[in-house]
Amino acid sequence: MKKKVVIVGGGFGGLNVAKSLAKANLDITLIDKTNHHLFQPLLYQVATAALSPGDIATPIRSILKKQKNVRVLLGEVVSINRELKKVKLHHGELDYDYLVLAPGTRHSYFNNPEWEKYAPGLKTIQDALQIRERVLLSFEMAERFYDERDIEPYLTFVVVGGGPTGVEMAGAIAEISKQTMLKDFRKINPLKTKIYLVEGQNRILSSYDEKLSIHARNDLIHLGVTPLIGQKVINITSEEITTDERTIRTKNIIWAAGNSASSILATLDTELDRFDRVMVKGDCTIPEDERIFIIGDAGNYRDIKGMSLPGVAQVAIQQGKYVSKIIKKSIPSEKRERFIYRDKGSMATIGRDKAICEIGRLKLTGFTAWAVWSFVHILFLINFRNKYKVMAEWIYNYLFQKRGIRLITNKTDL
Ligand SMILES: Cc1cc2nc3c(=O)[nH]c(=O)nc-3n(C[C@H](O)[C@H](O)[C@H](O)COP(=O)(O)OP(=O)(O)OC[C@H]3O[C@@H](n4cnc5c(N)ncnc54)[C@H](O)[C@@H]3O)c2cc1C
Repeated sequence: MKKKVVIVGGGFGGLNVAKSLAKANLDITLIDKTNHHLFQPLLYQVATAALSPGDIATPIRSILKKQKNVRVLLGEVVSINRELKKVKLHHGELDYDYLVLAPGTRHSYFNNPEWEKYAPGLKTIQDALQIRERVLLSFEMAERFYDERDIEPYLTFVVVGGGPTGVEMAGAIAEISKQTMLKDFRKINPLKTKIYLVEGQNRILSSYDEKLSIHARNDLIHLGVTPLIGQKVINITSEEITTDERTIRTKNIIWAAGNSASSILATLDTELDRFDRVMVKGDCTIPEDERIFIIGDAGNYRDIKGMSLPGVAQVAIQQGKYVSKIIKKSIPSEKRERFIYRDKGSMATIGRDKAICEIGRLKLTGFTAWAVWSFVHILFLINFRNKYKVMAEWIYNYLFQKRGIRLITNKTDL
């Protein structure tokens, strides 16, 4: 009988396991609670009206349509029973011989879940559309008022978290408000928009070389963003955000600060870290079971120096390929070589012609980094249609400084 492989999550990790097992004589089931694989690195462009959801999301079923050994299931996994080797879904359950968990993470609000209502995070298409709606509605609301004090909170944007997502969001909002929207409004002056980027540590993009991080901060300032460095958020309400140094009146807060891993991992009854990620062994399994793998953002993998790997797409992709080799050859745990991550570099964009890029010792900024960033992101998009469409949108956006997807489709007053 064929061995049963269950993969939870059709993100970068899970999808790469399934694709790398294309020719294996296995009975594979890939489960995802959404029907699409999402290219999260460009999610902020949907949130800021540069791209449409379909440009960065592709149905998982269509990606794997030629792979006859994989069944794709739309469903949400709620728990794992290690004793019985069963995966429990909202509707029904599945048996497995090998289980690969790649459910990624969600945002976490440092034990303040009530903040989520006022400060949405960016992980899914729904999140991106909600943020897009809020940003666009804010300009509409500001156009309604006459008194500067009424207008101010609608034209004040606060992004919390100075990692790549926060920096990209802040830069994109600055570009929309100070360039794209300029000619579209009669009464409000989008140039009066205030954009703050709050970061608790002593610099933004702290995982990058310090000079690059300073460069990025200067680029942001040039675009009109005010970085609030070394400030911790202590409260968020519908009207304002308070840090340990100041209070800002705003209707627009975007959360790009903390993550915590999926709640299904707790049902494994194994060691978790403070972000609820599973502490995995050198072969990406848990100590209690050599047939359960946790890959990508959901696992905390320590390299030989004891450093945890970053939560980036390349880690998930490479771990997916590594795990598939073990499963394909049924390698027993004592014969498995340790997973080794090959860092291909990291990059973040700040705006048009502005990015930073770190590949080994090579450090790039400005237009060159931005061109490398654009090329790499087009290259990794999942299919030709998306590559072509995104490239076309970017060229249009670059030449005319317009964002074509400025639609409000689910109007709710702020
Ligand atoms: C806004 C943003 C920007 C980013 N930018 C970059 C970047 O520029 N470069 C980079 O390298 N990385 C970037 N990342 C990080 C990168 O996207 C992640 O590291 C990568 O997606 C992790 O892959 P994964 O397979 O572990 O999880 P994911 O890609 O998150 O996939 C998890 C999948 O599991 C599914 N799932 C979750 N729970 C369940 C459940 N209970 N049942 C069924 N299915 C479930 C989800 O629907 C999802 O499809 C970014 C992330 C975000 C959010």
